[in-house]
Amino acid sequence: MNEYDSNRIYDLVKKINYKKTINLNEADCYVLNTCHIREKATDKVYHDIGRVKKNFKNKKKPIVIVTGCVAQAEGEILLKKDSYIDAVIGPQSYHQFNEILINIEKNFREINSTNFNVLEKFDRFNTIRNCNDTVSSFLTIQEGCDKFCKFCVVPYTRGAEFSRSENELLSECKELINNGSKEIILLGQNVNAYNFQGKKLSNLIEEISNLKDIKRIRYTTSHPIDFSKDLIEAHGKFQKLMPAIHLPIQSGSNKILKSMNRNHTVEDYIELINKIKKENPLIKFSSDFIIGYPGENDQDFEASLKLLKKVGFINTYSYIFSPRPGTPASKLKMIDEKVAKKRLTIFQKLADEIKLKFRKSLLGKKSLVLFENKLQGKDEYFGRDEFFNSFVVKSNENLKGKIKEVKILNGSLNTLHGEITLSSNNSSRAA
Ligand code: SF4
Repeated sequence: MNEYDSNRIYDLVKKINYKKTINLNEADCYVLNTCHIREKATDKVYHDIGRVKKNFKNKKKPIVIVTGCVAQAEGEILLKKDSYIDAVIGPQSYHQFNEILINIEKNFREINSTNFNVLEKFDRFNTIRNCNDTVSSFLTIQEGCDKFCKFCVVPYTRGAEFSRSENELLSECKELINNGSKEIILLGQNVNAYNFQGKKLSNLIEEISNLKDIKRIRYTTSHPIDFSKDLIEAHGKFQKLMPAIHLPIQSGSNKILKSMNRNHTVEDYIELINKIKKENPLIKFSSDFIIGYPGENDQDFEASLKLLKKVGFINTYSYIFSPRPGTPASKLKMIDEKVAKKRLTIFQKLADEIKLKFRKSLLGKKSLVLFENKLQGKDEYFGRDEFFNSFVVKSNENLKGKIKEVKILNGSLNTLHGEITLSSNNSSRAA
């Protein structure tokens, strides 16, 4: 979502004649768009600002603005601690960005804009064209969360669940199509909670499916308890909806899930996966796991390993529990750090083995890849298949924006390599 937000902030500042630069030493303004989900995020802000200070030691100070969830959660502290920061702007106040930037240019300093004005924010953004021109584009449809998992900062930094109107989203989708997008990734902290005046995520998927130039649709991130019947059925109905679902569970132990306030059990989760697979047996799942959550004992950890094997996740994101200030879980007794680290190593080793096994099973097979960009200085193109696997393929033809059938020749944990098949060369394939 920060990537989407960064692009939209850029669409805004262009209006007051700012341009992107890749030369960090010539910037007049730095925007550090931050994420607060992990403990090191705030340290990273100070570290990055330290680098800016060093680069500009003997030059005019650039404007420095911190945005994102660190700004929302720790804005006041940041401003007090480092006078080099000119402003902090929380995620629901981006519509004020240009006004704040102009004020700083006029020497008003230390602006803290961290109110929750999500409606005003999107009202403002709707008046500004989305200029993002990537083949695969993010589109924020929903923000905030009402679930209050005990470890998570999102309900405090992004606020309550808010869904954008279907019309507004379809018109932004058309802008993205005009810029060359072929794939839309619908975003929300709790994307399947999307509900705008009764229109749900499945309705939005149907509407976007009807847009001829969009070839692929994905969405992230879902909460298992918001996976309604219509969304499950959408996976059997809409061909453009890709067969890869990111479905965080966080732990394989019911005791830990309860203590996290996840409001579902492991059995509910498995049942949900089975229902989705009934609609489309090809669907693969990825997930998030927190290792070493307070109270996690050996049995709880074993339960996470068991679930990992049972579902056969093709991708997992796993981290040691990181207490976030202000969340209820931050007050719980942490488990021994060494134990947590050891468990993470065991977990990630098994997760990698499962992922590699899946990737090896693909060797020699064919996959439909949507190519996103040419690799710099090479006759190679980067793309993704339906399961969101990364591909690199050699080609003299410009593949950007095309879907081609690729025979998979080899692959590692990160990237698969292959060649365009003859039949694909003879006809460009749709998804
Ligand atoms: S559902 Fe996701 S975003 Fe919401 S509180 Fe839980 S972890 Fe955070």
